[in-house]
Amino acid sequence: MNRTGRYAPSPTGDLHLGNLRTALLAWLLARSQGAPFLMRIEDLDRDRSRDEYERRQLDDLRALGLDWDEAPLRQSERIADYEDAIEQLRGRGLVYECFCTRREIREAASAPHGDLPEGAYPGTCLRLTAAERAEREASGRPAALRVRAAGSRVGFSDRIYGARQGLVDDFVLRRNDSTHGYNLAVVVDDASQAIGEVVRGRDLLSSSPRQIWLAGALGLPAIESWAHVPLVVGGDGERLAKRHGAVTLRQRREAGEDPRETLANMAASVRLCEPGERPSPAELLDRFDPTAVPTGDGTIPEPGE
Ligand SMILES: [Zn+2]
Repeated sequence: MNRTGRYAPSPTGDLHLGNLRTALLAWLLARSQGAPFLMRIEDLDRDRSRDEYERRQLDDLRALGLDWDEAPLRQSERIADYEDAIEQLRGRGLVYECFCTRREIREAASAPHGDLPEGAYPGTCLRLTAAERAEREASGRPAALRVRAAGSRVGFSDRIYGARQGLVDDFVLRRNDSTHGYNLAVVVDDASQAIGEVVRGRDLLSSSPRQIWLAGALGLPAIESWAHVPLVVGGDGERLAKRHGAVTLRQRREAGEDPRETLANMAASVRLCEPGERPSPAELLDRFDPTAVPTGDGTIPEPGE
């Protein structure tokens, strides 16, 4: 096995312990197979992305002892590739314009539509009459682009969470503000970076059917292995957030914990070492067993706890 791995942060703030622990697990999975590990900066949200955050995120990953091959790939520099993919889909009749407002999508998605999961786009704009379409085009409101997936059912096997399946709705390829959609960018970039194993938080489990389907529609190689990992939660059981205290490497440092201790605390929280141990990244690599990673979300103690 030599499946190239990747970590793909969005530079919209400092990474918190949940993000950092996912990065650690992605690094361990790739490096324990002797595989390349690549970095991708998911900076398509131009309003929220900052160079400063990118720099700080990479500094934090280095401070933990993680390393990667090649210069990071920035999604903001990949727009031409995303447009090429849209053109390819368009040529096969798989792209349509969606004029729906956010409210219309919310209302349409809350009504039952056969097998589609809650929140899925029910294909409203695919069924517009010529007159309805002309009226919307004349309104001047820019259209988003959606892919015609026609409720395809896709199954896959996840290393941590086992057999999964989901229905693929007509998800967004390009938003009406011309930002490319998450799923499109990920699929095009994973292929471009020759990613073999995707490791990421389990909150993205439901994105995988869309991405598998889209890779197939674009004739791109399938991801060989998926490993979604549990999330870090605060003491209240909610997904980790600023209000939960010292949640970034910087904050942990200010609270008197050095990065090696933070690494150990993250590792212990997914049973990669015993509480109180201080293994180096190389030691964690030596004893890494992906089958030991638990499926349940969990907390990481505050410094000094
Ligand atoms: Zn629509």
